[in-house]
Amino acid sequence: MSQKDFFTTLLAIFATVVLLSLVWEFYLEDTLLAWVFDDHRTETNRERWEFVGTAAFFSLIALIVPGVIGARSIRQDQLLRKTIIRLSHEDALTSLFNRRRITELLDTEILRAARYATGFALIMMDVDDFKSVNDLYGHQAGDRVLAALAGVARSTVRVTDLVGRWGGEEFMIISLHSDSAGGASLANKIRTRIEQADLGEIGHITASFGVTAFAAGDDSEAMVARADAALYAAKRLGRNRVETVSAQSADQSG
Ligand code: GH3
Ligand code: MG
Ligand code: MG
Repeated sequence: MSQKDFFTTLLAIFATVVLLSLVWEFYLEDTLLAWVFDDHRTETNRERWEFVGTAAFFSLIALIVPGVIGARSIRQDQLLRKTIIRLSHEDALTSLFNRRRITELLDTEILRAARYATGFALIMMDVDDFKSVNDLYGHQAGDRVLAALAGVARSTVRVTDLVGRWGGEEFMIISLHSDSAGGASLANKIRTRIEQADLGEIGHITASFGVTAFAAGDDSEAMVARADAALYAAKRLGRNRVETVSAQSADQSG
């Protein structure tokens, strides 16, 4: 139950008690009691109002305990709901958005960009030769590297940009109010920071990036396909680099 519904219910109970006591005192009591008891004495208005006041006061007292317990349980439910939503959106290893959530966010940004004619850039990042990190240093060390790289990406983008784990050692960045040049420049900044990051026993690692920008008529599949093609080009051209595929160039090649 929402907080609003709960307090409306408490108010409805209180109003019902007051209304019933008014109806009883001013309309029903004399008729009914005179009918049952021969010696029934009609009350003064002051006595009637005292009864209504007392009933209202007692009902308020009676609502204190349910009110306190109910409000606390609603607060706990809201907290639980927030936690469940957060967990359903979060990647457990990196605390970035998980694939489901970043896909939802991409769909939302595409709708927004189409509606308001704003642009954004999509960046796909894939760690280079990551298999060898696992092979040489073990899966746990690999996990720590992924968490560290997620931190580098997160701390390099603007707070309003969206960063998610697409899967394995692949990450997706949605850079808002940007274009392919802005996306490529951001990707290069992340690339440089990753290249320079000291990863302890593992030393240094690199990543490759594919960039594309929203174009009118895009859907998420088309955008992801272009970013993937750009990433594939970056791998083919030697890794540790950023490549861009625009909607026009994708049209020309396809
Ligand atoms: P490339 O430069 O072509 O991207 O080479 P790569 O080795 O990074 O690519 P590949 O796709 O062959 O290997 C990806 C590796 O990432 C394989 C898998 O063991 C590792 N990996 C995927 N997810 C995780 C994870 O959650 N934790 C760890 N430790 N490793 C992971
Ligand atoms: Mg990969
Ligand atoms: Mg890789």
